[in-house]
Amino acid sequence: MTRLRGHAAFVTGAARGIGGSIAARLAAEGAAVVVADVDEEAGRQAAEKIATGGATAVAAALDVRDAEAVAAAMTEASARFGKLDILVNNAGVFRDRRLEEMSDSDWDTVLDIDLRGYFVCCRAALPHLRASGWGRIVNISSRAYLGNPGQVNYSAAKAGVIGLTRALSMELGRDGITVNAVAPGMIDTPLVRSHAKADEVIARAVASTPLRRIGTPEDVAAAVAFLVSDDAAYITGDVIHVTGGRYG
Ligand code: NAP
Repeated sequence: MTRLRGHAAFVTGAARGIGGSIAARLAAEGAAVVVADVDEEAGRQAAEKIATGGATAVAAALDVRDAEAVAAAMTEASARFGKLDILVNNAGVFRDRRLEEMSDSDWDTVLDIDLRGYFVCCRAALPHLRASGWGRIVNISSRAYLGNPGQVNYSAAKAGVIGLTRALSMELGRDGITVNAVAPGMIDTPLVRSHAKADEVIARAVASTPLRRIGTPEDVAAAVAFLVSDDAAYITGDVIHVTGGRYG
C-alpha cells in the first residue's frame, strides 16, 4: 500500500510495543518515519529494522517532557524529509495503585508523560504541520479514559487526551489539520507484560472481551494508519475504540 507516500511522520514511544507497530505500518504505507523514544538504543534498532525493509526511518532519542529536545528533533526531521505533516502521540507509562497508596510522584509522572507530553509534542509539531498545508495528529488514549480501579492517574491523563484532541480539532480544522484519538483496550505489549500479575490480568480481560482475545499492536496501528490517510479526510475530533468490543 502507498497511501502515505510523500508524507513524513513523527511517532513517539516508537521503539517497541504499539508505537513500534505504528511506525512500521506508516513506513510500510510509504511515509518517512521518525522513531522517537527515550530508549536511544532500542529506538535506533527499531528504525534500522524498518529501514532494512526498504522504507525510510530515522531514530530520535528524546523524552517527550523535554520541549527543547522535541522541538529540535522535529525541526531536524522536517529539514531532512522536506516536511513533517503527521504526529502520533503514543509514548506513555502507568504507575498503578489504589488512591490511598498513590504518591505525588505516581500522579505527576503519569500526568507529565501521558498528557503534558502530548501537549508539548502537539505544540512543537504545529508550525511544521501548518507549513505543509495538510496535517494529521493522532493521540493514543486508552479505554481506561472511561475509568479503571487502580488507575486514577492514568484514567485522568487518558481522559485529558480526549479533551485535548477534541479542543485541538476545533482550533486546527481551518488549517487542514485533523486531530483524532485512538482508545485501545488491552494490547499485548511489553508494558502490559511488565505487570506483576500480567497472566491473571490478561485472562480477566479476555473473558470480558466480546471478541475473546486481547489486541495486538498491529490492531492499533491499522486504526492509526486509517486516521492519518486521506481515507479519513472528513473525520476530526473523534475517538476510535480498538477494544474488541470491551468497554467495562
Ligand atoms: P510500551 O510497550 O511500554 O512502549 C512505550 C514506549 O514509550 C517505550 O519504548 C518507552 O520507553 C517509551 N517511553 C516511555 N516514556 C517516554 C518518554 N517520556 N518519552 C519518550 N518515550 C517514552 O507501551 P505500550 O503498551 O506500547 O503503550 C503505548 C501507548 O499506548 C501508551 O500511551 C499507553 O498508555 C497506550 N495504551 C496501551 C495499552 C496496552 O494495553 N498496552 C492499552 C491502551 C493504551 P521505556 O520502555 O524505556 O520507558
